[in-house]
Amino acid sequence: MSATNILSETVLNLAESATLKMSQMARDLRAQGHDVISLSIGEPDFDTPELVREAAKTALDEGYTHYTPVPGLMDLRKAICTKLKRDNDLDFTPANIVVSNGAKQTIFNICQALINEGDEVIIFTPYWVSYIEIVRMAGGVPVIVTADVTKDYKVDPADVSNAITDRTKFVLFSSPSNPTGSVYTRGELGEIANAIALHDHVYIVSDEIYEHIVFDGVHESIAQFENVRDRTIVVNGMSKGFAMTGWRLGYMAAPEFIAKACTKIQGQVTSGASAFGQKAAATALLEDPIMTKGMMHQFLARREYMIGQLKEIDGMQLSIPEGAFYIFPDVSNFYGKSYEGQAINNSAELAESLLEHAHVAVVAGAAFGAPKCIRISYAASEEQLEKACARLKDYFGKMV
Ligand code: PMP
Ligand code: GLU
Repeated sequence: MSATNILSETVLNLAESATLKMSQMARDLRAQGHDVISLSIGEPDFDTPELVREAAKTALDEGYTHYTPVPGLMDLRKAICTKLKRDNDLDFTPANIVVSNGAKQTIFNICQALINEGDEVIIFTPYWVSYIEIVRMAGGVPVIVTADVTKDYKVDPADVSNAITDRTKFVLFSSPSNPTGSVYTRGELGEIANAIALHDHVYIVSDEIYEHIVFDGVHESIAQFENVRDRTIVVNGMSKGFAMTGWRLGYMAAPEFIAKACTKIQGQVTSGASAFGQKAAATALLEDPIMTKGMMHQFLARREYMIGQLKEIDGMQLSIPEGAFYIFPDVSNFYGKSYEGQAINNSAELAESLLEHAHVAVVAGAAFGAPKCIRISYAASEEQLEKACARLKDYFGKMV
């Protein structure tokens, strides 16, 4: 038997995470001595706030080094309910909450708990890379509803409605959106809720992990609408707003039977998240959310800077992201051109060429279901962003 034959069809059919792959390529090139700027991965460059780090140290000293209840420590689940009420005006009890090793695992648990082979999941596109693969791993069929750059990358509720079939299990999207930075308004979410409410077999998975990074308008949750409230699963986590990517802590608030199903899955797979991390997360969530504002203001300043710079590149089509920390320009005007004799025909070739020649790592839009685009993360220092913009301008300026 060859080495490949022993691998499962699941893994053979699985695409590698493009975000993680690009950031690893950037790391590897750096290790070889190249001055690479990574605008690939979506990871705040800030340290976790001191208060949260101190809470973890205290928790370690207090003996939070054992297994916790599978869905999470009661302290943390209560803190999550407090946060959901305070920030989102949502009423949940600890029985609705499951804490996992990152929102990524939360979404994985949900898909494993809800999807049967052949079930459909409607995914707003451009989408976060992992949605498609996590759905497919559970045997689901992703159904794409595309949002255009000319409509600020926001879907038309009629398109959502038209995509619903008897096999639809749920609708999955993020607002603020990774990769587009779009933030749905209350009115827009209400219209989407109305489109879904007519079909009572359809649930909603609302990924709100960028809620604290909103520059224009305010974050709203689709779970606030009465007509879909009982069918909405809110996903959130500590990674983005609290600069806690490496802690691996995410959570969901769901109807109790779904929380129980996800707990059952988690009990067989990871047993839950780390005990001291959970204590620190409870501290973070109970703090005044003002704690997240300092980072948000810095991201805003970086957005302004990046947009100003990228506007100077002729042919790049920009939409202004209202939240998160990504810019998602349409770069299709450059396809068919070449850089130093090397033809660029798609987003993957452009991302590879940018890494090779400009030493700037970005992610190809194809990985997000938008092959005309590239994703630029500006979760990097001002100095790095200045350098990166100079390199990007130079690179695109030399394309013929
Ligand atoms: N959802 C979205 C939209 C994301 O961008 C990410 C990436 N961090 C996640 C979920 C998963 O986050 P984590 O697993 O770090 O909590
Ligand atoms: N979500 C971030 C991104 O899109 C982190 C990497 C990942 O988990 O995909 O870059």
